Amino acid sequence: MQLIKPSVLNLKSYKPNEIPYRVKLDANEGCNYLFKDGVEIKNIDINYYPDSQSLQLRKELSRFIEVDKENIIAGNGSSEMIELILKTFVDKGETILSFEPSFSMYPIYSQIYSAQYKRVECNDDFSVDMNKLFEIQKEINAKVIFICNPNNPTGYQISKEEIIHFIKKTDALVVVDEAYMEFSNNGQSLKDEVNDYPNLIVLRTLSKAFGLASIRLGYLISNKEIVSMINKVKPPYNLNTLTQQVGIKALREKEKMNEYVKGVKERRKVVFNKLKQLGFKVYESEANFIFFKSDILSLFEKLSNKGILVRRFTGNLEGYYRVSIGTNDENKQFLKALKEIVENERS
Ligand code: PMP
Repeated sequence: MQLIKPSVLNLKSYKPNEIPYRVKLDANEGCNYLFKDGVEIKNIDINYYPDSQSLQLRKELSRFIEVDKENIIAGNGSSEMIELILKTFVDKGETILSFEPSFSMYPIYSQIYSAQYKRVECNDDFSVDMNKLFEIQKEINAKVIFICNPNNPTGYQISKEEIIHFIKKTDALVVVDEAYMEFSNNGQSLKDEVNDYPNLIVLRTLSKAFGLASIRLGYLISNKEIVSMINKVKPPYNLNTLTQQVGIKALREKEKMNEYVKGVKERRKVVFNKLKQLGFKVYESEANFIFFKSDILSLFEKLSNKGILVRRFTGNLEGYYRVSIGTNDENKQFLKALKEIVENERS
């Protein structure tokens, strides 16, 4: 008997970079600016299961995003939220639609849940055509559409108006993944629109702007009907007490987060201009990373030999790279290594 599900048989397990590094700019993580000296959590009932509904945390999230707590579900990163959406809404053989390239976990979860994953290619400059998305949706009638905004890995942002226009025309479930929205220059979040449409979910995370990827904390915002459907499927006690408590502390530091985000945007400009000066094709980004193209052979290896980790791509995206915006010092080390490589290529 074949024990493994056919849908999982050919799935490659997700392997984060295991190369030793000096500077880690490969995973869009934020900097550790909130709890540099550690974090103290006192007076918790560590012997009891956590609050299954993360009530205190959801109240804090509600204050932070100015959306009612009844519209929010919290969980182990927005990754858990993506999986919960598939568990709740997608049956075997049903179709999920997204742009290509986009976040790599959408097709992986689709495969695990035996869904069909269809891609709408981005334009040549990695902008997207929402009309094309609509035309293809009309043709294939996908049940769930993931729109990553700003998009990982390209940094491209779609306007709120365009997404709303699209939501109004479809009855499919539209999931807007806003993992990087805090870094956008002109905030196009749909968080305040969730009660206006029956088919809108917004995803957020504390992994990026709060620099808390290690604690695994993300959340979902939607209308109360969708929230109650997803809550049927959410495992009880999905979010541990330590994460809930660290999350609460972090959310009370909105000022510090805004300051950090402001710094990332400034540093993003510097890295963008330097990459251009060095002769790379660079794409405007509204996120905490920059997507660029290089003709230098084995650039990833050349950088990692100097201790610098970036994200590389394969297949159609061979020769494209994504680099996180780090601290000033990290960015300088990345740019210095890159300059040395470029000069070496020219000599
Ligand atoms: N969505 C997007 C677009 C992402 O890039 C990521 C992380 N790389 C996630 C969701 C998942 O983030 P987390 O699970 O850490 O909240």
